[in-house]
Formats: sequence, C-alpha cells, structure tokens
Amino acid sequence: MNKSALIQRWQDITATLKPQVRLIAVSKQTTNDHVATLLEAGQRDFAEARPQNLRDRAMKFPQANWHMIGPLQKNKAKYVGKFACMWHSCCDIETAAAVAKHLAHDVLPTLVQVNISGEPQKQGVLPEALPLFLKQLEPIEGLKLVGLMGMAAKHSDPRDAFASLKACRDQIITEYPMLQELCMGMSNDWHVAIQEGATMIRIGSQIFDQR
Ligand SMILES: *Cc1c(COP(=O)(O)O)cnc(C)c1O
Repeated sequence: MNKSALIQRWQDITATLKPQVRLIAVSKQTTNDHVATLLEAGQRDFAEARPQNLRDRAMKFPQANWHMIGPLQKNKAKYVGKFACMWHSCCDIETAAAVAKHLAHDVLPTLVQVNISGEPQKQGVLPEALPLFLKQLEPIEGLKLVGLMGMAAKHSDPRDAFASLKACRDQIITEYPMLQELCMGMSNDWHVAIQEGATMIRIGSQIFDQR
C-alpha cells in the first residue's frame, strides 16, 4: 500500500469520528514505515499487543503515544510500566502490582479488561468479579484507573457485548466516578461500539491491511 492510500484509509475513519471518540491505530501487524506515515499525517495514538514490540516502537517513535493492548505476563511488566502511555489489558492483580513497580512516570492510566465475550476462556475479569477486582487494585499505587476495555467474540452479536461493558461501567460509576473511558470496537465492529458508547476504538486491519 502506498502512502496516500494509507492516509486515505485513516482519514476515512477519522472523518466520521466525533471529538469525544479517540482512534487508536493498532500497529502490531504493520511496518515502521506505515507508522511513520500516519504519525506525519497527525495520528498520535498507537497500540501494540506484545510488550517487547511496544518497547521497540516506543523507543523508535517517542513522539507517539503507545498503548498496551495485549495479554501480559508478569516478567514483561517492566516494558509496560516504562513505555506505555496507557495499559488497556489489566485483569490480574499480581501483574498489575508488577507493572506498578516499574513506572517511568508517577501514574499510568489503566483500563480494566472485562471479559464480555461470554467465552469463559477469554482474557479479562468476568463482569460479576469486577467489583472485587477493583477493590483489590485500589491499594496498588501508580495505576490510575480511567475506564474499562472489552472485546466482542468473533461470531456473535457485538452489540450485546458492548452494551454489557457499558452496563458494567454504569453499575460501578457511582463508586468509581473516574471510570469514564470505554475502550471497545475494532475493525469489524467499531461502528456498533460507538453507538453503544465507546470513547476509544482500536483499529488495525482496516487501516493497515493489504487487501
Ligand atoms: C489486534 C487487536 C485489535 C485490532 O484488531 P483489528 O481487527 O485488526 O482492527 C484491537 N484490539 C486488540 C486487543 C487487538 O489485539
């Protein structure tokens, strides 16, 4: 894909977004050249799903904001603490404590990943476990909770999943008024996610894929 085709795809998405919805460009399957092109065009938020790739890209492109969106093991926590501008996949207390130990800044904005897919084997805190999980996170200094993240299952209606993430948020918002962000929606379902109240969408293939 040439530069102008890439920028066109990106603009086709950004042109439809209201200012309260932030586009995160998921660069996990693209090249440094494509990242550089979008940066030049004005995109600031990028995401990686593997901690070492996050580190590498954050070092190469320090002018961008690097979001961590993938599963994380404790022994890779330092990369997230040091290089992420936001951690989207917090769903385990021990890993959260490990990330907090390695923070490069005073605080790391953090989203709790909730398993809204209806598939028990998927990553994320189950909705019914969320209140206890938030209680357990509270004593961990440095993680600044700002919202929830969720992913719909591949072959079911994403609207139900996104509505249930919003319902989780609405249930706890009185106790946790800082949980304003709802990060949900990917290439195939971001229109629905926005209708259901997404404040951040994570798009990879619709921007970067060769088709
Ligand atoms: C890869 C990935 C995305 C982007 O998916 P696309 O379908 O390519 O837009 C979003 N969120 C997470 C957690 C991912 O791993």
